[in-house]
Order: sequence, then C-alpha cells, then structure tokens
Amino acid sequence: MIKENVHKILAEIPKGVELVAACKGRTPEEILEAIEGGVQIVGQNYVQEAEKAYAVIGSRAKWHFIGTLQKNKIRKILKMFDMIEALDSLDIAQFLDRICEETHKTMPVLVEINSAREENKSGIFPEDAEDFIENLAIFKNIKVMGIMTMGPLCENSEDIRKYFNQTKSLFEAVKKLNLEHVDMKYLSMGMSDSYKVAIEEGANIVRIGTKIFGMR
Ligand SMILES: *Cc1c(COP(=O)(O)O)cnc(C)c1O
Repeated sequence: MIKENVHKILAEIPKGVELVAACKGRTPEEILEAIEGGVQIVGQNYVQEAEKAYAVIGSRAKWHFIGTLQKNKIRKILKMFDMIEALDSLDIAQFLDRICEETHKTMPVLVEINSAREENKSGIFPEDAEDFIENLAIFKNIKVMGIMTMGPLCENSEDIRKYFNQTKSLFEAVKKLNLEHVDMKYLSMGMSDSYKVAIEEGANIVRIGTKIFGMR
C-alpha cells in the first residue's frame, strides 16, 4: 500500500517539485517501504524517532528536520539531517551557527513563516520575515535556502490558497533582495490535504504523511 501511494503521488506532482515523506509516528520498516516506492527525502519531527530510522536507512535518503528545534537536540540534528525546515528563532540560529562552526558544517535551513499570523503557532509573521532573514546573514555557517509554511487548518483545501499565495509573494520578495548567504531556492508548503493547491501556488517542496502512510 505505502509503495503504491508513493507511486501515485510521484506520478501526480510535476517535475521540479520535491516530495518529503512526513514520517512522524512511522516505523523504520514503513519508511523503508516508502523509499522503495521512490521517496528520496525523509522528514522527521522528533530526534529520537529519527535516530531509530536513521540506524536502518542512513544515507539511502536525504533527511529534513521538520519539527520544532530545541538547543539540546541541535548536535544530533547536525549529525543526521541535510536540511532544517523550520527555523524561526535568532537565538536558536546563533546556537546552531556555533555548533556548525565547532563541527565544521554548513547547515541549509528554511525559515518558517506563520502565514496566517496564528497566535499559538510557530513561525515568523510575514511582515517580519525580511528583517529576520537579513539578521540571519551574520551566521556564516547557516545557509538560508528558502521558506516553509504550515498554513492554518482549513476545512476546505481552497481556503488555504490565499496563505500559500501570500507566502509565494513573500518568497519572491526575499529573493529579489539578493542577500548574502541567502539562496532562495525552496518553497516548502502543502501537506496531504493541501499539496495540490500548494503546487498550484508555487510550492517546490511538499511534505506528505497521511497520504503515504495512512491515518495514524
Ligand atoms: C505531519 C506533518 C506533515 C504532513 O502532514 P499530513 O497531513 O499527514 O500529510 C507536514 N509537515 C509537518 C511539519 C508535519 O509535522
């Protein structure tokens, strides 16, 4: 089933759009099956889960950290992950930069945007994003590669379109600034219920869990 689900999704998404399998709560065996189906990027929210999966899968996939960053997990994240998708704190960025320096690494990151300005959600408000990204430029070991957004929970997948559209505009605006250490290449938005709309609005990374693995 998992393999077939991946085949279907891959057949559907256009060239140039990358699929991240959102693997929270899934076993290494389930993730392996997704990889056999053609998944090339594994998304993990939790370091402990990632370690278990990484022990089995290792470099057979690229690893994107899509969860909430905590300082005490940064060293482990640097060991396993190829990209951090949800950076939204200068304090954590500074810490990340320091550990990168120590371990001679450069970490590609996406900045998380709270596109619907929801009070209790993570991410930078759209109007603060340019300043935030400019401020990241002093961290030489972090490379900003784009932005990601979750978008609000919507009953109807059409209702989220406006937020994706606005995030795409923000992506283009930051790109135009031509900031040093910033290479606006990736726009990560869209999940199982919204990836089609997200792609129509310009996403080139989609993060899909349920539609690959089934309901948890
Ligand atoms: C779980 C998760 C997804 C995927 O959600 P589905 O609705 O299961 O496709 C995408 N992004 C993040 C950050 C997630 O935690």
